[in-house]
Amino acid sequence: MRLVVVGASGRMGRMLIQAVAGTEGCTLSGAIEREGSPALGQDAGLLAGLSPLGVPVTDDPLPAFAEADGVLDFTAPAATVFYAELAAQARIVHVVGTTGLSPDDFSKLKAAAFHARIVQSGNMSLGVNLLAGLVRKVAATLGDEYDIEILEMHHRHKVDAPSGTALLLGEAAAQGRGVALAERKVAVRDGHTGPREPGTIGFATLRGGSVVGEHSVIFAGAGERIELTHLASDRGLFAAGAVKAALWAQSREPGFYGMDDVLGL
Ligand code: NAP
Repeated sequence: MRLVVVGASGRMGRMLIQAVAGTEGCTLSGAIEREGSPALGQDAGLLAGLSPLGVPVTDDPLPAFAEADGVLDFTAPAATVFYAELAAQARIVHVVGTTGLSPDDFSKLKAAAFHARIVQSGNMSLGVNLLAGLVRKVAATLGDEYDIEILEMHHRHKVDAPSGTALLLGEAAAQGRGVALAERKVAVRDGHTGPREPGTIGFATLRGGSVVGEHSVIFAGAGERIELTHLASDRGLFAAGAVKAALWAQSREPGFYGMDDVLGL
């Protein structure tokens, strides 16, 4: 499978290049960065700390998408919406790991999925997607007398909050409770907030250092607390999940898929 990595010089972009180069049956056919990026013209392999791959980083996605079977995209929301339209025109696979997508961005991705095979997930790891299944089950079992709080920590460079994974876990908890997350979500608490409103799903965000990603879903009842935690220590985990998603989607019909489809959860 010929794969293009967009955002090639980013933290995840470089991990994706390594993952594609290290996966049998996959070839890196293109590496894209934004106009003016200092990475333009560099060999993608060297950029990712590997031997040269003979693929220079360019800022021209059109010819790269035309020659590819899929694109791996961990960039920024506006860039991802733009790439989804190009992936739809090229009728290829688009794996979206970008977080911080707005409802409007999701509508645009779903429109692109009439022609592209899009796999989107706020977290591409097996562990977090398994955890989401557990959270759904525990939320359904325990009921409203257990308050749900989601705590996450990420490195100091992260630009969106709560994390895509925290939202994914919040969605799972809301599904378990049979409610809409948008109506129950409390993402910020500050000042005189009054007592906790029953049935809400709270989020708390920590940022600092080089933390790859840590998430806990806390079910707090009267006299006991259950905590489900996932600790990621290596970004390679997400990159490997993205390549797996691309290979899975190659033989699927156009549509909008999640990692639970890829992992058969
Ligand atoms: P990062 O280091 O900032 O990388 C993002 C890269 O995308 C940068 O190189 C950036 O270039 C580039 N970019 C931005 N706009 C672009 C455009 N229009 N065309 C081409 N490249 C463009 O961030 P990161 O830590 O790799 O994370 C990237 C995204 O993946 C974030 O949304 C993060 O939350 C998400 N993520 C998801 C998962 C998952 O499993 N789903 C896991 C980890 C991270 P500039 O530096 O020039 O802006």
